[in-house]
Amino acid sequence: MLIDLHNHTRHLSMDSALTLDELLGRAKERGLDGVCLTEHNAVWQNTARLEAAAHRHGIAVFRGMEVNSQYGHVLVFGLRAFRNSMFDFGELCRVVESEGGVLVLAHPQWVGNVGRGPSPDVIAEHFHGLEVLNGEVTNDANNYVEAMATALGKFGTGGSDSHSLGAVGKCATLFQNPVRTEEEMVREMRAGRVSAVRLAPSTNGVELIKV
Ligand SMILES: [Zn+2]
Ligand SMILES: [Zn+2]
Repeated sequence: MLIDLHNHTRHLSMDSALTLDELLGRAKERGLDGVCLTEHNAVWQNTARLEAAAHRHGIAVFRGMEVNSQYGHVLVFGLRAFRNSMFDFGELCRVVESEGGVLVLAHPQWVGNVGRGPSPDVIAEHFHGLEVLNGEVTNDANNYVEAMATALGKFGTGGSDSHSLGAVGKCATLFQNPVRTEEEMVREMRAGRVSAVRLAPSTNGVELIKV
């Protein structure tokens, strides 16, 4: 099952031009089975609206968030809401552990731009996975992060980091097992049964390029 784990909409992310319907429509065209909304420091609360949109477009919709921390941007899955205390990485880790969530270091290739970047020791201790493919990052930088994930024994995810229509469906995460709920999505990630895939720029459905 192919899920793009990193997407922003204009409804909750001020830097995105994408509406929810535009995102889901294009993701479906690109052959994805699901998308996860990872808004900046916010989790969608209007689940009825999400369920209706998912039904309309025939695609699964999940919720996560992208939190700004002192170690850069962190993709968080399995939490129901954002709280300001989560800007502190230690507090974020405590909440994720107590609620059984997942922490994935977003675009580690860019981390110098948005924080000081965690050391390998911090990654090894606190992160479950690394975003080894990010749609906004060049191949060379992605290869470097993939090697880092392998060396640290972390799973890799793929996400488009879409903020505009043209960015939707560049990368995704291949789940070995089908997931229907956010709980199942988190369980599969924590078990490491996921891998990152780049989607070929094709208008004829989806073509995977394994990394
Ligand atoms: Zn980011
Ligand atoms: Zn992002």
